[in-house]
Amino acid sequence: MTDETALVLFSGGQDSTVCLAWALQRFGRVETVGFRYGQRHAVEMELRPLIRARMAGLAADWNARLGEDHLVTLEALGAIAETALTREQPIATAPDGLPTTFVPGRNLIFLAFAGALAYRRGARHIIGGMCETDYSGYPDCRDDTIKAMQVALTLGLDRRVRLHTPLMWIDKAATFALAEEIGGQALLELVVEHTHSCYLGDRTRRHDWGYGCGACPACRLRAEGYRKFKTGLPR
Ligand code: ZN
Repeated sequence: MTDETALVLFSGGQDSTVCLAWALQRFGRVETVGFRYGQRHAVEMELRPLIRARMAGLAADWNARLGEDHLVTLEALGAIAETALTREQPIATAPDGLPTTFVPGRNLIFLAFAGALAYRRGARHIIGGMCETDYSGYPDCRDDTIKAMQVALTLGLDRRVRLHTPLMWIDKAATFALAEEIGGQALLELVVEHTHSCYLGDRTRRHDWGYGCGACPACRLRAEGYRKFKTGLPR
C-alpha cells in the first residue's frame, strides 16, 4: 500500500474492472480514464459510472481512494481503424492472422494519452488490463510492447512512469479468481453482473458468466474462463 496516485485504463470490461480493484487495494488515490473511439460495444462505456459507484460501495477505504473519472474522445482512432470493432463488419480472422477486431495501435494511443493525463494529474502509476496469456494475438497487448511504452513515456515526459499490467500472465479463469481474492464474493458478483465483454454489445442474454451474445470471441473467452474458474477444468 502506497499513498501515491494511480491512473487506471478503465473501459467497464471485466479485465479493467479487476484492474481497478487491484489498484484500489494498493494506491492511496485511484483515478480512471475511459476512451471513446466509436467502438461498437459502446455499452461498456455506459456501465462505467455504475461499476465505479458499486466498487466504491464495496469498502469504505475504496470509497475514500476512488478519485476522478476522465473521458477522452478519440473519434480519430475510429475513423482510421477499419475494423470489426468500429465498423459493421463480421468478426473473423483476417489474412494477416489477426482477428478483424484488432484496432492497429490502439493500446499505444491509449497509453500515450494516459501518460499525458497522468502527468497532469501527478500520477506516476498507470494500470492496464493488457494480457498476453489468452489474448487474441493483439501485438500491442504484449509485455514487450508495454515495457517499451513505459520507457518511451518515461523519456518523453522526463518523469518516471510505471505501467502495471496485473493480468499479463494470467488467463480469464485466473482473472475471475483474482477478483474473488481481492474483493470476495461481492466483487466477483459485481464483475459477473455489471462488466461487459461482448463485442456485439448484447446485454439482453444473461448467462452464469454475465451478459452477452454468447457466440462472439469475447463472449466465448469469458464463458470458457468462467467455466474453468468454477470447475478448475478447461473445457
Ligand atoms: Zn458476444
